[in-house]
Amino acid sequence: MTTPFVDVAIIGGGPGGLALAQGLKKNGIDTAVFERDPIRADYVQGFRMRIRQRGIDALQANLPPHLFQAFLDTLGLAPTENLVLNETFQRLEDASQRSGEPEDTHIEKSVSRITLRQILLSGLDGVFHTGKRFERYETLPDSTVLAHFSDGSAIRANLLVGADGAGSAVRRQLLPDLKSIDTGVRRLAGKITLDAAARHGISPLLTEFNATIRPRDGRGLMITSHRVDPSAYARHDFIGTEDPGHADIPGFHFNNSTSYTWWNTAYDTDELGPDDVLETLDGAALLEALLGRIGHWDARILKLVRNSDPSTVAFLKVKSSTPGATWQSGPVTLLGDAIHAMTYFRALGGNTALYDAGLLVRELVAARRHGKPPLAAVEDYENAMREHGYEAVRSSLSAMQRNVGVNRPLKALAAL
Ligand SMILES: Cc1cc2nc3c(=O)[nH]c(=O)nc-3n(C[C@H](O)[C@H](O)[C@H](O)COP(=O)(O)OP(=O)(O)OC[C@H]3O[C@@H](n4cnc5c(N)ncnc54)[C@H](O)[C@@H]3O)c2cc1C
Repeated sequence: MTTPFVDVAIIGGGPGGLALAQGLKKNGIDTAVFERDPIRADYVQGFRMRIRQRGIDALQANLPPHLFQAFLDTLGLAPTENLVLNETFQRLEDASQRSGEPEDTHIEKSVSRITLRQILLSGLDGVFHTGKRFERYETLPDSTVLAHFSDGSAIRANLLVGADGAGSAVRRQLLPDLKSIDTGVRRLAGKITLDAAARHGISPLLTEFNATIRPRDGRGLMITSHRVDPSAYARHDFIGTEDPGHADIPGFHFNNSTSYTWWNTAYDTDELGPDDVLETLDGAALLEALLGRIGHWDARILKLVRNSDPSTVAFLKVKSSTPGATWQSGPVTLLGDAIHAMTYFRALGGNTALYDAGLLVRELVAARRHGKPPLAAVEDYENAMREHGYEAVRSSLSAMQRNVGVNRPLKALAAL
């Protein structure tokens, strides 16, 4: 039996891989996405993502107009005003630690990851394949690549794109020495529906603003909201509604049609408890661990934390890639978190993955339509991707230091 062939094989159906597939399809370039998981139910999928202009531009360039319109129409709304309070609920001047770096974020635009995925998957029937866990690749004498999957199948391609996230198996083979780093920062987050917040009498200062709690000592707490408009969903078929893949998962976490307020906080290693203990705790117990640290804070803040839905609370170790790797271009390349995973501070990772997709589409169109040598196209993509991607990794690490380390410097983070 001959091995199937596709011009561009994409490993991983996250925002980066799917945006790439949309852009290639829009430009008539033969492509296929190979994704391991039939549904996406990793913890962060239950949250919104902050969107930046570079992400919006990439979506506009790569989506067909009706899907870009669906993206705009179904965007959630975040509060437009910021507020800083101390732990006794006194308002502070926002003498915040601004980065001085260019800001292209849209504070009021709040993208549900579930909705974004629904949009990015639209029209990819026959292109998007699930149950395909990539294992390894081999380069053939004719410079094509053969990608092997754990179900025993394989695909041959002119270009293999590893868009398989921070733990990328494609990167492990291409750049075996590149390791992820543990920043030592430990994150907790949780959500409460706006209806529940109203029932519990949560202060509007915590639901109508992007509120930062900046205590005199200890670590801060960030609070914001995501408001959805079901009438916008109704205009776009299933986009923005519940995802059937999440129907059997109990709790509110993957509910995609209800407005909510959410908070997140970050600590240094061991401040909330040892990792091996925290990793075994459920949402309710994690809330107790957090309340053990902030139990002396104003009751209005504690009410929000205490009444958060435990199904939405989880513990996360914050990791980063080491920026700076270079390699010789060939028929295998990388995109998004697979090459430049970064901390969530500054909300850059997903936007950078979308931006990468736009860069690679542009280069592949130049190669497939306008005679640019294919290897030069990959090389130009990689140079541009490395420049802005590594810059984003560095920027997210400095933002983490400024945010979490404001009162007490972080122990573990080596200077990069
Ligand atoms: C807490 C948190 C908050 C964040 N907030 C923001 C934000 O506000 N704004 C922002 O821009 N970014 C944010 N990010 C970063 C953002 O989530 C990532 O940068 C983004 O998801 C990267 O997209 P990607 O497509 O490169 O990879 P991923 O989203 O990781 O997708 C990779 C895909 O590859 C699949 N896969 C993995 N291995 C294999 C394999 N062997 N075979 C086949 N498929 C495989 C996975 O199942 C997955 O679907 C945040 C991250 C975290 C952790």
